[in-house]
Amino acid sequence: AKSDGRNICRFFERAMDARVTERRQLELDLRKALAAQEFEVYYQPVVDARSEAITACEALLRWHHPERGMVPPAEFIPLAEEFGLIVPLGTWVLRTACAQATTWPDGIKVAVNLSAAQFKSRTLAHTVVAVLAETGLAPNRLELEITESVLLADSEATLAILHHLRSLGVRIAMDDFGTGYSSLSYLRAFPFDRIKIDRSFVRELGEAEGCLAIVKAVAMLGASLGMATTAEGVETEAQMHKVREQGCTEAQGYYVSPPRPAHIIAELLRPRIAV
Ligand code: C2E
Ligand code: CA
Ligand code: CA
Ligand code: CA
Repeated sequence: AKSDGRNICRFFERAMDARVTERRQLELDLRKALAAQEFEVYYQPVVDARSEAITACEALLRWHHPERGMVPPAEFIPLAEEFGLIVPLGTWVLRTACAQATTWPDGIKVAVNLSAAQFKSRTLAHTVVAVLAETGLAPNRLELEITESVLLADSEATLAILHHLRSLGVRIAMDDFGTGYSSLSYLRAFPFDRIKIDRSFVRELGEAEGCLAIVKAVAMLGASLGMATTAEGVETEAQMHKVREQGCTEAQGYYVSPPRPAHIIAELLRPRIAV
């Protein structure tokens, strides 16, 4: 029995070693990926809930790993954060997305996701100013999306940066609303331009009574606070009808379009020529 225990220990040690090696390999791969141009920014359209006309596109990072294929952001972004790579990577996404948006019709905004580490580096406001100047994108066409974890990290310093960005004309959105512990207190702490209602509430619209009530309440809350409300993860026509009925101002999800490469989005946004 004693040797059995030792064998089990060895088994776990080997499994742990494999995981450590795997992470170490991914870290090395990540460090090379930016220079090797393995990253690409995809864009997902956001539409007006009533007219279904595109109002903005959200930039979503993609990694084409030479051997593993497409690695989802949920897997590599936490690693990039841990390894201190998210700041250069985040700056690259911001610059790429702003440059891309200058090729779109004037009314179309671009939304970019930010990590807590980008706020901690203290260079964020400077980076945003530099990228806007460099690309020539009007500040009011840029929307930055942050989650609760950003405000959680160091709320005093973060709030100061958010106010600074806002004074430049940049819009700020609260992402994944309703998934954290204190979404409501963050709405009080900062005057967001937009609330993005998390997909988990939209997914069960129609099945769970509670979700309908929550979506409706958040849309009303947004309206009374002067904030736009985007329903995330709208996959069906029925969900589209529901979020419109409940008063969400915008919608985003596979029903309209999944995230697509820049050239496909450019095609979608090309003004139709009347005949
Ligand atoms: P997010 O900001 O909440 O982005 C929305 C995610 O939902 C995207 O996943 C999108 O592809 C997915 N999605 C959109 N519509 C639907 C739908 O109808 N149904 C379903 N099931 N999913 C839908 P993605 O692209 O895998 O990104 C995952 C997360 O990774 C993002 O969540 C965001 O938190 C993070 N992320 C992506 N790009 C960046 C980036 O450039 N910087 C940072 N810091 N985070 C990023
Ligand atoms: Ca987002
Ligand atoms: Ca989200
Ligand atoms: Ca998310």
